[in-house]
Amino acid sequence: MSKFKSSLDPLPVIANRRIDTLLAFAKSEVRAHPDLAKRYVKLARAIAMRHRVPLGRGRKHLFCQECNLPWVVGYNVKVRLEPKTRRMIYSCKCGKRTAFVYSKKRAK
Ligand SMILES: [Zn+2]
Repeated sequence: MSKFKSSLDPLPVIANRRIDTLLAFAKSEVRAHPDLAKRYVKLARAIAMRHRVPLGRGRKHLFCQECNLPWVVGYNVKVRLEPKTRRMIYSCKCGKRTAFVYSKKRAK
């Protein structure tokens, strides 16, 4: 294996596409089949790890890191804003709370 990652390597692109598909599937199945949805999220995370593709800011808001349940705001996750520390706090159904920083500068 080469030391440098080639920009022509198609594998990360395929992995990214697969992760997005799996997360979309997970979201559509969360109400009817929560176990299946969790499995989709687990697979997406496994692919990300295997190919060392970062999940990134956007995709980290899509599921619980603890129980792998896809998040649907108003259904299984509560979102609170803390203006003092500029954090959004996602409280999952399983009891796990995750904080994400938001910034007024970035939102512009
Ligand atoms: Zn959870």
